[in-house]
Amino acid sequence: TEIKVWKEFDKSRLYMADLESGLHFLLRVELATHRALEGAELKTFKDFVTVSAKLFPGRQPVVKLLETLQEWLVSLPLDKIPYDAILDLVNNKMRISGIFLPRKVQWVGCQGSRPELRGYSCSLWKFFHTLTVQAALKPKALINTGLEGNPQIVLQVMRKYIQHFFGCKACAQHFEEMARESMDSVKSLDQAVLWLWEKHNVVNNRLAGDLTEDPKFPKVQWPTPDICPACHEEIKGLHSWNEDQVLQFLKSHYSSENILYKYTE
Ligand code: FAD
Repeated sequence: TEIKVWKEFDKSRLYMADLESGLHFLLRVELATHRALEGAELKTFKDFVTVSAKLFPGRQPVVKLLETLQEWLVSLPLDKIPYDAILDLVNNKMRISGIFLPRKVQWVGCQGSRPELRGYSCSLWKFFHTLTVQAALKPKALINTGLEGNPQIVLQVMRKYIQHFFGCKACAQHFEEMARESMDSVKSLDQAVLWLWEKHNVVNNRLAGDLTEDPKFPKVQWPTPDICPACHEEIKGLHSWNEDQVLQFLKSHYSSENILYKYTE
């Protein structure tokens, strides 16, 4: 058996290794449970790839892979695509041209104290938080994709991705309920950043003390005062969030400047 060595990391930073490992898992493991994509699933995957190609602040070969995948999906006249064709593109055609996505899972800020904890689901949250922040920082990024001008676009893509592909079905159901309740009220790219932050905290709250909780990473209302003191206020003895500060914090935490490349190859 493989001995996993604990990797030291800084919880105030974002690690590219987590984001790339998440993308690797999404494309090569989660998607692989679908033998072919068609209809709403195909549309969802296409939009996911488009939004990721335009907004993911990744390394050049990975962004290139997403762009090539997007162009290929858009140009295909088929309304049904076998998963093998997608995998072939991700693995083979890409390698030839030096466009690649690392094949290893290397969790850093998402490593768990046991292999079944954290990992992919942690990286998926981070991935989508990053996309909502990038959309707010670069509002013109989606021009000419057919997805521009919609402040909810990243949230809608996430909602559909979770609904059609996320392996945890109970999670998908919970997320869908929250989306149905209030996603409509999001009217700006900044509000989209805050919506996802708030809903993630609702999930954290629900899961605190649950069996799925990693004892080394207790579920907390995030960001905690140690990483963002200005986010927290006390009004008449009651805790409240300073949402302007939270937004500012999220925009810096999930920015490309906060990404570390340690543990990537
Ligand atoms: P995670 O909650 O995965 O968070 C990852 C990282 O994001 C944290 O380490 C922190 O750096 C940052 N973060 C934390 N909170 C916030 C926030 N509010 N805003 C921005 N960044 C934040 N599991 C279940 O058992 N039941 C469910 O119903 C369920 N629903 C889910 C729904 C979705 C859409 C997703 C993606 C996952 C869901 N999960 C659910 C999995 C669960 O939320 C965690 O991902 C998993 O338990 C691993 O937790 P974690 O400690 O790595 O932290």
